[in-house]
Amino acid sequence: MTYQEISLKRGKEESLDRFHPWVFSGAIASDTAKIEEGDIVKVRAHDGRLIGVGQYQIGSIAVRMLDFGDTIIDDAFYRRRLAEAWKLRRALGLRTADNHAFRLVHGEGDFLPGLVIDVYGDTAVLQAHSPGMHYARLSIARQLTALDGLGVANVYYKSETTLPYKAHLDPVNDYIIGGYTTDVTVENGMKFHVDWLRGQKTGFFVDQRDNRSLLEHYSRGRNVLNMFCYTGGFSVYAMRGGAASVTSVDSSAKAISLTDANIALNYPGDPRHQSYAEDAFKFLDRMPKGEYDLVILDPPAFAKHRSALRNALRGYQRLNARAFENIAPGGILFTFSCSQAVSREQFRLAVFSAAAQSRRKVRILHQLTQPADHPVNIYHPEGEYLKGLVLYVE
Ligand code: SAH
Repeated sequence: MTYQEISLKRGKEESLDRFHPWVFSGAIASDTAKIEEGDIVKVRAHDGRLIGVGQYQIGSIAVRMLDFGDTIIDDAFYRRRLAEAWKLRRALGLRTADNHAFRLVHGEGDFLPGLVIDVYGDTAVLQAHSPGMHYARLSIARQLTALDGLGVANVYYKSETTLPYKAHLDPVNDYIIGGYTTDVTVENGMKFHVDWLRGQKTGFFVDQRDNRSLLEHYSRGRNVLNMFCYTGGFSVYAMRGGAASVTSVDSSAKAISLTDANIALNYPGDPRHQSYAEDAFKFLDRMPKGEYDLVILDPPAFAKHRSALRNALRGYQRLNARAFENIAPGGILFTFSCSQAVSREQFRLAVFSAAAQSRRKVRILHQLTQPADHPVNIYHPEGEYLKGLVLYVE
């Protein structure tokens, strides 16, 4: 295969030699005018040495590396990478009679930068974050349905909001293989409606699966408040864990109706559950002190970019301070940040400041992260995004 070539400025190969998968536009010495977005390119060091192959795009990240070597990017390449991803999920024991929902491909963490694939039973939701993956979508979808033992027959492509709009790709969200079968999936034995057609991300936050299980373990007899509940994942687990009551809050009416539907699917008519479509801060302001002794704070990413970091940290502090002021003595707080731009230390510091402000005795019981089906490529630490603390508040 002859691919277009990119050569780097002197010294700019260093991070790539340590297998970091991105080439920034400022590192490129050669003329890129003839290279189209999504093209496969060969990347060479200043002295002409071949480093590897990747997908080109216009932007600060100019190349996302697919492999370090002289590799041909064809159907067989995607088949190999998907088979490796599936092999890992099998090793994790994620596809069982009781669990049909998991992430099969987590971008750089599965050596497929710019690609996310979540599996819900026989349907996979494929999301491209780069033009290169957009162009490869049909090949990827075909390889996906051919994977031995995975059982995916339908592939829904959902990239309208994840592709760079300047690339003018005009992606359409639609099935690229198969069609609609059912929107009910099973996670750890509990049923969930997954709205991949209209929902956020791929329709469900599979990344909280392990943390939901931990919450279940602490739920017995507690009055649970699930803030930013979206599809009500934490709420359903709390119900199974034997909570005395569960209150779900989200500012989106759509999210609340999804939560109510998921409770009805697992615990029809159970009077322990209540839900409110309301702003989290407003709800926390009006909630009576000491009403809840197990609180979940799982807000959307407050910092989508580094520039928003200061405000984001202030937001986390303000939100957590409210929870510390209100949670009952002996209460347990599950608090999260999914902002990639916020580091583990920065998040912990924001929560620390909030705790100090409330003057309560607070201890860390668990430090949480993303589950194993969202692996972090060790050469790409930016892939670690989910941070959580479980706190005991006296
Ligand atoms: N905990 C969920 C995922 C949360 S996603 C799970 O386990 O699946 C973040 C949610 O926060 C979204 O559903 C969004 O509608 C909601 N949200 C965003 N801003 C909010 C606000 N100010 N008050 C309440 N909910 C908010």
